[in-house]
Amino acid sequence: MLHIGCHLSISKGFEHIGIEAKSIGADTFQFFTRNPQGGKAKDIDANDVQKYNQFAAQNGFAKIVAHAPYTLNPCSDNPQTREFAEMVFADDLKRMEFVPHNYYNFHPGSHVGQGVDVGIGMIIDLLNRLLQPTQTTTVLLETMSGKGSEVGATFEELAQIIAGVNCQDKIGVCLDTCHVFAAGYDIAGNLDGVMTQFDKIIGLTRLKAIHLNDSLMPFGSHKDRHAKIGAGEIGAEALVRFVHHDAVLHLPIILETPNDLQGYATEIKFMRKAF
Ligand code: FE
Ligand code: FE
Ligand code: ZN
Repeated sequence: MLHIGCHLSISKGFEHIGIEAKSIGADTFQFFTRNPQGGKAKDIDANDVQKYNQFAAQNGFAKIVAHAPYTLNPCSDNPQTREFAEMVFADDLKRMEFVPHNYYNFHPGSHVGQGVDVGIGMIIDLLNRLLQPTQTTTVLLETMSGKGSEVGATFEELAQIIAGVNCQDKIGVCLDTCHVFAAGYDIAGNLDGVMTQFDKIIGLTRLKAIHLNDSLMPFGSHKDRHAKIGAGEIGAEALVRFVHHDAVLHLPIILETPNDLQGYATEIKFMRKAF
């Protein structure tokens, strides 16, 4: 069974987002833990969360994905920015335990000229200060397109981060189809080759969630512009094939395509029909 959903707003609470997800045929979703620009998160309403947890169980929801704010940069050259990243990350992990056993996805960061190795070291340090053996949340590194000085646009860099993490069972990867394509991994023309490479370098057991997007920008462009399914350079056929891959089939698949609710419903229906 395909588990698919899309990015939704959590502003009206967990129960609301669950009902909204179900109404468009989704059985998973992604949400920002707070304003994507950073800022203070809304207080968790224990009653709302309890209702959601019940609703999700009753409706056979898959694991859901929380997304950290875009501004969170654990490998900034500015110590204050790194401190802010750590504060937000720690607070988010605490809050995630209200919806236990789900995923927390973040962009590894931008090294802003300090070099990839310095960046990777800072990301590892943050993870080793924050990840706890007792937490139920698995933290996911998102595969990046490699714009600017982004870390995590190659499988090698992600593997290097994972290798440095102490809590090995709390770390995984979220593969963004638009980003990997833009980063130079040809999931349209050579899917098996890319997945074999992922397996050799990172290990397919680390793959925990998917961001399913077409790419407005061409292969290897290192530009991050999401397109609707079939409206980009990857194409609908290749994305359907991707979702059918053995290592992907059972994972929560999140659409981050430029859509309103109705548009998401259409794409979810399209992907489900392919099964
Ligand atoms: Fe992202
Ligand atoms: Fe993404
Ligand atoms: Zn993106």
